[in-house]
Amino acid sequence: MQPDKATKPVVVCEPDALKGARPVRRGGAGREASSLPSHKEFVARRLDVKRCAEEGATLGGSEPVEKHERLMAETQGRGAGSEVVWSATGEMRNPGHVHPEIWLHLRAQTVLPLTCQRCLGAVSVKLAVDRPFRFVADEETAAAQDDDAQEDVLALSRSFDLLELIEDELLMEMPLAPRHDVCPVAVQLSAADPDFDDGSAPGEHPFALLGKLKIGKPTAK
Ligand SMILES: [Zn+2]
Repeated sequence: MQPDKATKPVVVCEPDALKGARPVRRGGAGREASSLPSHKEFVARRLDVKRCAEEGATLGGSEPVEKHERLMAETQGRGAGSEVVWSATGEMRNPGHVHPEIWLHLRAQTVLPLTCQRCLGAVSVKLAVDRPFRFVADEETAAAQDDDAQEDVLALSRSFDLLELIEDELLMEMPLAPRHDVCPVAVQLSAADPDFDDGSAPGEHPFALLGKLKIGKPTAK
């Protein structure tokens, strides 16, 4: 095992960078690379997908949710401090073929503080994506093949915005109505609302409680 994570090479699919550095093929596809120099994000914003596939390269990183405006908006400002962690591995299938297939395997995850639709408090929701993409020559081909293919088909680009794809994919994982498994709000309500404090035992049936309120307060205000 390599003890020092910070010096572990993370292959960057940047054409100029690759001239000087030999990319390392890594068996553990999609392994997270959390410590990255700042220029990595710049590269992910304009990724040469084909070159990445040819080199079998993996790139990855983590950045604050604030860098993803649409994700950040979903948190209604609570997302500051959350991180998006991701990795992407290129793969060329049938490299000897006239038309080899260009693939990119994407993994991304984050935990977002969303608004619980039951109690309107903050609820932490984990979003995770683990998905392969196949890249074809152009938008037209992609549109023609996408419906029939099991995988997502995208148009090849020398300057592909990988971070935007990551944001798109995480947004699609967003629950329609995020909720706590058990809302903490029941406790808060009874403590905050004096009308609720009628001395009834906790756990009493709500209709029984309603009856007590009516009978118990005939002259209230
Ligand atoms: Zn709740």
